[in-house]
Amino acid sequence: MAVPLVDSFGRVHRDLRISITDRCNFRCTYCMPEEGMVWMPREEILTFEEITRVARVAVEHFGVDSIRLTGGEPTVRHRLPVLVEQLAALGADLAMTTNGATFRSLAHDLRAAGLRRVNISLDSLRADRFLELTRRDELDSVLDGLDAAIEAGFDPVKVNVVCMEGINDDEILDFAELGRDRGVEVRFIEFMPLDGGHTWERASVVSGERIIETIGAVHDLVPQARGSEPAETYAYADGRGRVGVIPSVTAPFCPSCDRIRLTADGKLRSCLFSIDETDLRALLRSGGSDDDLAAAMATCVAGKWAGHAIGSVTFVQPPRSMSQIGG
Ligand code: SAM
Ligand code: SF4
Repeated sequence: MAVPLVDSFGRVHRDLRISITDRCNFRCTYCMPEEGMVWMPREEILTFEEITRVARVAVEHFGVDSIRLTGGEPTVRHRLPVLVEQLAALGADLAMTTNGATFRSLAHDLRAAGLRRVNISLDSLRADRFLELTRRDELDSVLDGLDAAIEAGFDPVKVNVVCMEGINDDEILDFAELGRDRGVEVRFIEFMPLDGGHTWERASVVSGERIIETIGAVHDLVPQARGSEPAETYAYADGRGRVGVIPSVTAPFCPSCDRIRLTADGKLRSCLFSIDETDLRALLRSGGSDDDLAAAMATCVAGKWAGHAIGSVTFVQPPRSMSQIGG
């Protein structure tokens, strides 16, 4: 029988985020440096069987009921629908976060393989700015990927926007309209100090509060109850969907965080900002049993800290960038 995966503060962990590759076809400024990323050698990356085994242990031993695939860019992983099918068979709610650029060609197969939800990351609706931000001229393919996700029946489809001062904060209302027009929930994420270039400044963060004030000045918004989700969500009073903010910097959700993260090279992290990691790949490749894996997971989570303390003098940016952790 499953036992809860609890930390010393009593938080129960049910949400496993799996980075399946550190590689990416984009180079977003807030995530990766333009040059000089050293990819993990292929033999260090977990195989589909290893990923599925860790996920199965998490589901069977700890009742993990939500799994999200991320990266790097998960769609660059060859034969992705095969992995999705293996994970879907575990019965947890299966989701993916993607930059969407090649989603059109994969949407049908991923849906058929059992992927249920998808978040597409998109930070500008202006082609020139999109190119500057992602260092790729792919706005049209991402918008097409978004349409493909809706057509393929993913439910829900969400759009993730990293909102940054002086960069794209003048597009808040444009994104609100995109969400209302296409029937997708747009989620504005506060810019976090996980950029590959270590250039993050507090002044670049656009607060969730300001985003909601900006949209609320134009549309009536009704706050929704917040569960274990990090997003603060609002419904449009006229019934045309919802919009959310993830205020990870100005109002962290650490006290109710239920997430654990597996990196592409098999390290378990109890927090996005962890410095310490637990090496599950070593156990997987040295004959460790399922009980050994479960014990390592439990120890990792038991040692989780209360919160990340961005902005305090004790905060240290982790050595891995967002693209190597997965978001
Ligand atoms: N490549 C996929 C994508 O872009 O959706 C998945 C990986 S990406 C690291 C996961 C999420 O992290 C994306 O929604 C991205 O916008 C977000 N992200 C990346 N760097 C960030 C940062 N410094 N602060 C906040 N969010 C960030
Ligand atoms: Fe790649 Fe996603 Fe990072 Fe952009 S945010 S560089 S698409 S991993």
